[in-house]
Amino acid sequence: MDSRPIVRGAHQVSVDVLVVGGGLAGSAAAILLARAGREVILVERESQPQHKVCGEFLSQEALMYLRQLGVDVEGLGAVAIRSVRLAGRTGVSEAVLPFAAMSLTRRRLDAELLLVAESAGATVLRGCRVNGVQRLGEGWAAVIDGAKTLSAKVAFLATGKHDLHARARPKGRQPDLVAFKMYWRLSPQQAAALEKHVELVLYRGGYAGLQPVEEGAANLCCLVQQAELQRLGGRWENLLAAMRRDCALLRERLQGAVPLLERPLAISSIPYGYVRDASDGLWALGDQAAVIPSFTGDGMSIALHSGSLAAEMYLRGDNAAQFQKRLQGELSQQVGFATTVSRGLVWEPSRSLFLAAVKTWPGLLGVVARRTRIASAELSSRAWVDSSRTVKN
Ligand SMILES: Cc1cc2nc3c(=O)[nH]c(=O)nc-3n(C[C@H](O)[C@H](O)[C@H](O)COP(=O)(O)OP(=O)(O)OC[C@H]3O[C@@H](n4cnc5c(N)ncnc54)[C@H](O)[C@@H]3O)c2cc1C
Repeated sequence: MDSRPIVRGAHQVSVDVLVVGGGLAGSAAAILLARAGREVILVERESQPQHKVCGEFLSQEALMYLRQLGVDVEGLGAVAIRSVRLAGRTGVSEAVLPFAAMSLTRRRLDAELLLVAESAGATVLRGCRVNGVQRLGEGWAAVIDGAKTLSAKVAFLATGKHDLHARARPKGRQPDLVAFKMYWRLSPQQAAALEKHVELVLYRGGYAGLQPVEEGAANLCCLVQQAELQRLGGRWENLLAAMRRDCALLRERLQGAVPLLERPLAISSIPYGYVRDASDGLWALGDQAAVIPSFTGDGMSIALHSGSLAAEMYLRGDNAAQFQKRLQGELSQQVGFATTVSRGLVWEPSRSLFLAAVKTWPGLLGVVARRTRIASAELSSRAWVDSSRTVKN
């Protein structure tokens, strides 16, 4: 008989483990804890798979974690990314990535992770929003949809960019960027030119990543300083026109391209550069633990790493404070460096300098990519990590 807790209908439920949020970090923790025999409830506020504002670039580390969790990214349609191009006013530089990478839409990836969590034995509640999490004796109590109360011995906070009530993260070191994401159907010629590449595009006040995803679409994910967006009247169309003006490569790519979403997805007030340094007993994962600037860093692999590390430490009897300290130690340098690069990219003098430096030495792109990943020492010290498999071309 299925012994999983029944939550729908009941007003009070008690479990071992509560995971709030079913993105990469929450799903990773739920899968590993359920596989270890723990009674896990994961609560995800969306009832259906959704698109998320994300560049969808999966680094080697992210791919390694996904394989360990049992996700077949190639089977889901992920496409290979082999090289990076940097494009600005002054031309284009290209370098082979120092690691194998892929890309896959978050809608597909996150949905698959929740299915894997369910088959591992976790109870997944979709379409339920956790309103708040509070101490209850030795454990935690969560209110769901303003009605049901769920109590748990331990709680993992994995709500990504959404802060729970009374748990707002500080602003971070670069909070003034607004992000947009749009899928495009490129012309056949431009799609062929983009194949196996991620293109980093620099323009006044921001930067963007363009890369192919499954089913022949391309993801354009852009960041722009709030002040610059205001100067452009706060409008996506104006931003797009300014980006095209500033960057010939993007102008070429989008010629004849058809937008695939009715309007772009957008988010603001992202606390880039934030790293959590303490815990009140909750295990904070993914973007709730650290927010690395997009494209200069690797947020998805941080999310998967934090979820896996938390499960591992919890199972061996460590507490949340020990986990948060260790994660902070592992990530601080990487997030700090990526934030410095990101700030440099949105400031005209350093942006021009960077473009000129990369033109002279394209290998610099690989160096930056390496320095903004999770150090391999942290990954290789993990007993269960299997680095022997490589990505198929
Ligand atoms: C513009 C941009 C581009 C990016 N590009 C890349 C990239 O190319 N590569 C990369 O590696 N990283 C990238 N990132 C970073 C990456 O998207 C995040 O670091 C990663 O998604 C964090 O995973 P997470 O599990 O912490 O949160 P999320 O993936 O955001 O998941 C959180 C989940 O919690 C749910 N939730 C929220 N609140 C509640 C609630 N109250 N109750 C229940 N459920 C809730 C949400 O619905 C969501 O499913 C990018 C980020 C941005 C902003």
